[in-house]
Amino acid sequence: MYALSTKFLQNNPSKISRVLVYMCLFSLPAFSQIIQKPIPDKLVVLTFDDAVSTHATYVGPLLREYGFGGTFFVCEFPPDFEDKSKYMSWKQIQELGEMGFEIANHTKTHTHVNTMDKAQFVEELEYIEYKCQELGLDKPVSFAYPAYDTDPEAIKTLEEQGYQFARVGGSQAYDPKVNHPYLIPSFSTTGVDKGRVLKAIDQAKDGKIVVLTIHGVPDYAHDWVTTPPKLFEAYMQYLHQNDYKVIALRDLERYINVKEALKKIEPDFERVK
Ligand SMILES: [Zn+2]
Repeated sequence: MYALSTKFLQNNPSKISRVLVYMCLFSLPAFSQIIQKPIPDKLVVLTFDDAVSTHATYVGPLLREYGFGGTFFVCEFPPDFEDKSKYMSWKQIQELGEMGFEIANHTKTHTHVNTMDKAQFVEELEYIEYKCQELGLDKPVSFAYPAYDTDPEAIKTLEEQGYQFARVGGSQAYDPKVNHPYLIPSFSTTGVDKGRVLKAIDQAKDGKIVVLTIHGVPDYAHDWVTTPPKLFEAYMQYLHQNDYKVIALRDLERYINVKEALKKIEPDFERVK
């Protein structure tokens, strides 16, 4: 066999380079296919949870001034979703979507995925999908786990339902070669520790992406997860002045081949706890 192929190459010099190209392609490390476009330094994803009122009244207009993207993970948070001093109306959610922001799924009733069976979880997902469809918004492709609680079964369901990315907590940068696309870690901006948040943002380099989880600015529904407006504005200014690229979670599809990542990366639930 060896003699045969050597002879083949000698008689077909033009084929040699082609063979060499194939050899190179097949010997590249496995992650080369997960990353389809190099991840630039200073890539930050903004995500906003729970459909709270200040996302429409304050956050959306401010992001627009800066030209930043962002993902709004919406739900009908019980018991007082109808209280519009606390939560956005669907009309406001629709307007955010029409402004170009990503509207994404946080379940209908903010139920932790590890407390639901598959049928319930699908129902919770489909409710938000239906609302988006009704309002002329794109079908959600990103998911955020209520209270960051994950579950192996939920991961399977998200794939079946056609989701691209799902976000957890974990206070670490997202390494697309290591972190499963349905266990994307994030840093919370809750509280007044500006130094902690800026230090987190600075980790967006060397192939890693920083995803921020932000609740209300302020949060009139759950004041303990407030990010003060002055600090939020300072973070946005910092991102702007230091030339960060600020995008929505779904925009990571430009850089990451999700199908490959789902095939090659084992979900590691401990890593992001
Ligand atoms: Zn939530």
